Amino acid sequence: MSEFSLIYTHFKHLTAQHPNTLLGIGDDCAVSQIPPNHQLVSCVDTLVAGRHFPFSTSAYAIGYKSVAVNLSDLASMGATPYAILLGLSLPTELVTDENWIIEFTQGIADICKRFNVDLIGGDTTKSDILTISVTALGFVPNGQAITRRGAKVGDIVCVSGEIGSASFALKQILDKEKIDCRGVSHTPNMAKEEVPLQQALDLPFPQVELGQKLRGFANSMIDISDGLGQDLGHILTASNVGAVIDLAKIPCHSLLQTLPNAEKWQYILNGGDDYQLCFTLSTANFEQFNQSHPNQVFAIGEIVAEKGLKLLYDEKPVNFTIQGFQHF
Ligand code: ADP
Ligand code: MG
Repeated sequence: MSEFSLIYTHFKHLTAQHPNTLLGIGDDCAVSQIPPNHQLVSCVDTLVAGRHFPFSTSAYAIGYKSVAVNLSDLASMGATPYAILLGLSLPTELVTDENWIIEFTQGIADICKRFNVDLIGGDTTKSDILTISVTALGFVPNGQAITRRGAKVGDIVCVSGEIGSASFALKQILDKEKIDCRGVSHTPNMAKEEVPLQQALDLPFPQVELGQKLRGFANSMIDISDGLGQDLGHILTASNVGAVIDLAKIPCHSLLQTLPNAEKWQYILNGGDDYQLCFTLSTANFEQFNQSHPNQVFAIGEIVAEKGLKLLYDEKPVNFTIQGFQHF
């Protein structure tokens, strides 16, 4: 299949769905309208086969997830997603595997539809290793983006849901398949039996609606992609504060609850790929938000003046090395 037939057969129908898209796929650039009194919020995330997802990941999940991780970044700013651009580097054997392309595109189409996101363009090349680079665009009312910088002493630290499930699933997959994660072997799309919690790893649900609701409530926010410990650390550094976290309060799946503490905390604090939000709110805003949106935010600790991250369990300090996902 040529680059052009690939684009026109599989991607063209996903474009110009959004009222803000004046010109979608087919020209040199897309042209978009920014809504009045809004700012453009943009991000890009690249997923490399064997590094950011196991080679055995289904085509559908690869498509879905490469968009989901970017929508999660937009969610963490409180932005409303608008559109994506898709940079696709395909190995030859996938360019010619129409079923793979159809499934991959379906994953992209489904998540775009769920969040009213337009595919407005991209680029397609050949490469030895499957690499997907998605650029996402969103809008936020002027001055209302929630950043990592605004945490204040006395704020309550919250997360949006269960943490650790995805890294638990990844560990089972890697143990099972002994996959070479250095990108040497390349056997994508192997049919595999699912491991427990694999959906959390493959099909993360970005907290887009919650992120927007937190505008005007949260003082700071980040999405958890590289491990709660490391990502909360980014808020603390950017805000020049510290935090005390009660490990017993971090929500996690019942399968993780039964594990020995050290193993459980490894998934929760150092595992990645959660795509939940971590944010801080004043106690007054926490109470107000919790009343109007019950069971959507989970308090796990407090922002304090003393720098660093302190962990407690049963009110006793816990010594645990924070080491999230390292990109290099
Ligand atoms: P150019 O050579 O001018 O960059 P391309 O041939 O790369 O143009 O792309 C033609 C059109 O197809 C452009 O509108 C581009 O945005 C779109 N396009 C190319 N690859 C993809 C892709 N993987 N996903 C979505 N749109 C794509
Ligand atoms: Mg191009």
